[in-house]
Amino acid sequence: MKKNNLSSLIIATFLISFIGTNQTVYAQKIAKEINVQKTITKEVLTSILDKNKNLYTQGKVANYIPELGKMQSNKIAFSVVTENGKVLNVGDVNQKFTIQSISKIISLMVAVNEKGEKKIFDKMGYFGTDKPFNHFANLDLNGKPLNPLMNAGAILTTSLIDGEGDIPYQKILQMVRYITKNPTIEINNSVYNSEKETGHKNRGMFYIMKNTGLIVANNEDKLDNYFRQCSIEVTAEDLAKIGYFFANHCTRFDGDKKYYNKEISKLIESQMLTAGMYEFSGEYARTVGLPSKSGVGGGITVSVPNKIGIGVFSPALDSHGNSLAGYRMILDLVNQYNLGLFD
Ligand code: GLU
Repeated sequence: MKKNNLSSLIIATFLISFIGTNQTVYAQKIAKEINVQKTITKEVLTSILDKNKNLYTQGKVANYIPELGKMQSNKIAFSVVTENGKVLNVGDVNQKFTIQSISKIISLMVAVNEKGEKKIFDKMGYFGTDKPFNHFANLDLNGKPLNPLMNAGAILTTSLIDGEGDIPYQKILQMVRYITKNPTIEINNSVYNSEKETGHKNRGMFYIMKNTGLIVANNEDKLDNYFRQCSIEVTAEDLAKIGYFFANHCTRFDGDKKYYNKEISKLIESQMLTAGMYEFSGEYARTVGLPSKSGVGGGITVSVPNKIGIGVFSPALDSHGNSLAGYRMILDLVNQYNLGLFD
């Protein structure tokens, strides 16, 4: 039995004998909360990272965007922002990687803040998915994207943010910098150019939506903003801070409440739960049971509602496009501390 499980068992036993057996469930609940609050430490994160760090050999670094293929496959990092906003980092803590699809939760927030939820979701669905991220996802059926977290819906969402040229992208970048309190965050121009040159499937979706009138555009600026947002570089720590932000009704890790908004965080977390992990989302909800968003750069951000944020990075992906070691680190942490929504 793990040390922290043992200590919560001792606390539970004490509480049960003190309070009386008819209140066993309550005592166990208190013990569980004590466990979550007290014991996520760097040592625990290190042991989970060490256990999973060789799994990268079973995955594959994405190279359909040629620049992504240059990432060293054995890089790995694991970060948590605890309930009181403390940051715990282990592994390759300074390793930057592109945020990719995780940017879609930020662009959704910017668009909904600006336009209101109804105007955005008149144009797309709240559906979950059994399809990969770049699937045409409903465009061929009724013309509307399934949800804002697959590429079609994400391209549309970004196109709905006000402003000419790269202004919508700048708003997304500023929001990432605000949430992470990290003004050094920048775009990786090589990845951006690589995406722009090779992103013909995304270009195809853009033109289908232009054809149906969902996107109004005279040039490809709006599509470029999507490529740019995917090319923003972050660390696992930045992702843990993003996870914390949405877990806590859009409260920043340092307690700043400038964007405090329970409705937005409920919207975004529900989308993360149903569609955040590509076609693996349903099985992920069964195994991890937490709102999470994955990117093909190898990052995953996780929100433990009303509690903590988790960020992982390991660029070798599984067959669904999710970080293989990243997923397993999340699963171990969640199981060890009963963090899942349904635990
Ligand atoms: N920029 C990537 C694409 O559109 C994002 C994919 C992802 O991270 O899921 O192909």
